[in-house]
Order: sequence, then structure tokens, then C-alpha cells
Amino acid sequence: MITDRQFRDKISGMVTGRVLFDEPMSRHTSMGVGGRADALIFPGTDGELKNVVSFFFKKGVPFLPVGNCTNLIVKDGGYRGALLSLEALRGLEIRNENFPSKSAALKGKHADIVCVYAQAGVSLSGIVDFSAREALTGLEFCAGIPGSIGGGVKMNAGAWGREMKDVVSSVSILDADARMREIAREDLLFEYRNLILPEGTIITGADFHLVKGNRDEIRRKISDFIAKRREKHPLAYRSAGSVFKNPPGCPAGRMIEEAGLKGFRVGDAEVSEKHGNFIVNRGSAKAEDVITLIDTIQKKILNERGILLETELKIIGEGL
Ligand SMILES: Cc1cc2nc3c(=O)[nH]c(=O)nc-3n(C[C@H](O)[C@H](O)[C@H](O)COP(=O)(O)OP(=O)(O)OC[C@H]3O[C@@H](n4cnc5c(N)ncnc54)[C@H](O)[C@@H]3O)c2cc1C
Repeated sequence: MITDRQFRDKISGMVTGRVLFDEPMSRHTSMGVGGRADALIFPGTDGELKNVVSFFFKKGVPFLPVGNCTNLIVKDGGYRGALLSLEALRGLEIRNENFPSKSAALKGKHADIVCVYAQAGVSLSGIVDFSAREALTGLEFCAGIPGSIGGGVKMNAGAWGREMKDVVSSVSILDADARMREIAREDLLFEYRNLILPEGTIITGADFHLVKGNRDEIRRKISDFIAKRREKHPLAYRSAGSVFKNPPGCPAGRMIEEAGLKGFRVGDAEVSEKHGNFIVNRGSAKAEDVITLIDTIQKKILNERGILLETELKIIGEGL
């Protein structure tokens, strides 16, 4: 349907942001692989997003929200439907100080709590910088994670023993019927690297409860985390971060290393020599190379240990 000229004109007329048709997703994914999406749309406002979703819902056009595409592989056959980037939704503000928090961990600390609201398109580095400037502690663990608020909350992004679920106090969503609403923390079902939401739900923003802290200490923590990442992660190459979730007991990266798979390559996709749970693009990898490599790793670990490694990154689209 999106190939129809009139349909394309209609979509383009609905948003003030960019609308890219037949867009190679290799230009947008952090891994640098992926086929063409029928459309990649950048709504300029919440209202435009709502109109587009409502239109697609009525017309039966498949759609999917994307953030910074740092945990995403689009197959080489591309995505039939529309990818909705919330990049333009970048509002970031302190909402109210001393707001009542329901978090048990924060009981008795109300005077020090500050609520920060961020729209889905704000980058995680953006909110980390903002918190540091405002001397608010809680989000330092996100330093160096290259995603957006929308992707970060959906993925329950985490590092160094902390996750989004520890700091989110509510999430604003647009449901698949194009209704906007807010979900309170106690009604949010977070699990390891996932926030369970009904299919088609788009996160438009989130409230975070942060705590007043010492600016220098916050900055020091951020620098330490970034330094640790430089030391441990293969940042010289394109990747999508950790490929597999860590099963209980042993990190996926260690299992992959012990299986002798570091440096193993399919095409230009390679298991990083530096970190076993990263697949890096050594130049012109295809999605197919990455997916074949993932499959090879899964089979080897299953054969040797009886453990099926589950992917953390999301694979969408058509083809192998
Ligand atoms: C070098 C590197 C290091 C990384 N380190 C970490 C780390 O330490 N910890 C960690 O957890 N992750 C890490 N990641 C992975 C990734 O950055 C995170 O998962 C991030 O939160 C994904 O955000 P994104 O905006 O890029 O989401 P995308 O990759 O664009 O999307 C990921 C998923 O979220 C969905 N999604 C995106 N936006 C929305 C929205 N608004 N509403 C609903 N669903 C949405 C998408 O449909 C998709 O299923 C790393 C990645 C790289 C490349």
C-alpha cells in the first residue's frame, strides 16, 4: 500500500518532519546493516504521531516505533510498513520538585526527589548530561548507552547493576488505537531487558524520579562508567551492543569466549575479539551475515551447554 503514489503524498502531508520512502535502514542502524523500509517517518509532534498512527490503524498498515536503532537489526529484505522515528520529540524538563514517590526505595527521601520528564526522542546521553547539570543522581548508569528514552524504557536498558525500572516513575504512551495515556510505575511490568506492553504501543515519554546529589560526584561516576565502557567494549567498530541476554549464572560473553568463538566471522560480521557478546561490523556486513553468526553461536552453545541464548537485540523485517 505504501508504494502507491497518492498514499505516499497523503502520509507526507500529515507530518512536518521528514518522510523517507524506500529508505535503506543500513543508514540508520548502529550496526550499519539492513534493507529498505517502505517508509521511515519522523513526526514533528505528539499530535502528528497520533494522526499517523490512527491513519495506519484504519488502513491496516503495519508500523513500528524506532528510537536510535542501536539495538535493532532490519533484515536485508527490508521492512514492509512504516517505521516511526520519534527523534523530533525532544522535550526535557523538571516537572515538580519533591513530588510524592511510590517507590519503596525512596520512602523517607521525598524532600530530595525531583521528577524529570523526557520525551521519547531525547537521547540517553542527553538526559544524563541534563541530570549532571541539574545535580540529580540516578541515571548515571545510562552514560555511554547510545539509545533514546523510548528505546531505553522499552528495552529496560541497564548497566552496572541498575536498570530503567529503578528510575522510571511513569510512562506516557500512545496505544495501538491512537489513544494517549499515562501508566503509573506500579502498573508497569518490567522484566530483564524488556517492558511488557501490548503490541503496537508507542512510548511517547517517561517521568524519572531522580535524587538531588553532588554535581562533582555525579560527573565522576559518569566519567568512570564511560572509561569502563571504552576499556571493555569494542567501540571502534559498529555494533548493536550486547547481542544476547545473560542467562542466569554465566554471562553470555564468557560462554561465547569459552566456546572459542571470539574472532569467528561470517562475511564482515565478526564476534568481537574484545567482548564475546558483541558482534561487530568489520566493513560491509549484511544483516544476513549477522543473523547467520547469531544462529551459529546459538547452536554451538546449545550443543555444548544445553543453553539456548536468547537475543537481546531485536530483529525485524523480511528475508533470512
Ligand atoms: C555500543 C553499544 C553499547 C550498548 N550498551 C548497552 C548497555 O550497556 N545496556 C543496555 O541495556 N543496552 C545497551 N545497548 C543497546 C541499546 O543502546 C539499548 O537497548 C537502547 O536502549 C536502545 O535504544 P534505541 O533508541 O536505540 O532503540 P531501538 O534500537 O531503536 O529499538 C529497540 C526496540 O525498542 C522499540 N522501541 C524504540 N522506541 C520505542 C518507543 N518510543 N516506543 C515503544 N517501543 C520502542 C523498538 O521497536 C525495538 O523493538 C548498547 C548498544 C550499543 C551499540
